[in-house]
Amino acid sequence: MKTIFAETIVRSPLLSGVPGLRHGFTTRKLGSMAGQIHSRDEQATNRAALEAAIELRLIKASQVHSADVVLVERGIATRLRDGASEPVSSAMRLEGDALITRERGIGLAVAVADCAPILLVTPDGWIAAAHAGWEGTTKRIVGAVRDAIAARGGRIVDARAVIGPAIGGCCYRIDAARAALIRERLGDTASLVGPVDGRFDFAIADELAAQLRAAGVPRIDVLDRCTRDEVGTFFSHRGEDGKAGRGLAFIGWSQA
Ligand SMILES: [Zn+2]
Repeated sequence: MKTIFAETIVRSPLLSGVPGLRHGFTTRKLGSMAGQIHSRDEQATNRAALEAAIELRLIKASQVHSADVVLVERGIATRLRDGASEPVSSAMRLEGDALITRERGIGLAVAVADCAPILLVTPDGWIAAAHAGWEGTTKRIVGAVRDAIAARGGRIVDARAVIGPAIGGCCYRIDAARAALIRERLGDTASLVGPVDGRFDFAIADELAAQLRAAGVPRIDVLDRCTRDEVGTFFSHRGEDGKAGRGLAFIGWSQA
């Protein structure tokens, strides 16, 4: 007999062991949290329910597949590349694909539907949330997060990181032109398999894990759950013909 169990939030044992840290990857069960498919009101309601449940104020930038890192401090989000800033909210206009902070009570969040969410914590209190599809991966968003934390004295070499549910190499088939661009940016070690009938499989999570190792992060948990295979549990851009809602990956220090 099969047990039917609807997960609401998926978590990593590696981060669950850190005192005072809250994190997770929301499933369809909690509804769409961002994007253009569902109504703004519905998504705002879903985010508010999540904020109440996790007791964190969610903060999310406008994601554009960049490698831009946003620093959150004293109620202001500042993009490190150019100093652009905005008061924090769960749906900021400020564009960026990674967030870092040391403050308590704040849930750094990224929205995903196939793209890979990365959550990271250092022993001296820095936390990060990042979002990477093939573009952010080839722009080395992981290295950008490392640089941003290291520049502020954070101990990235003792960090823990998790790569959450994302489209797997099993389901992420790309054409030769994109594969060539990926090789151009990442080199011959890029996690590409193929060609098969002129197309390639790109394992984003494997590539990000390699980048985390190269950044000196010693403990990495790859959840290895393919969003397209598990489209009944997670939103999947490819699994839903581009009409998917968005789940949230979040990480934050509890207030107490
Ligand atoms: Zn798959």
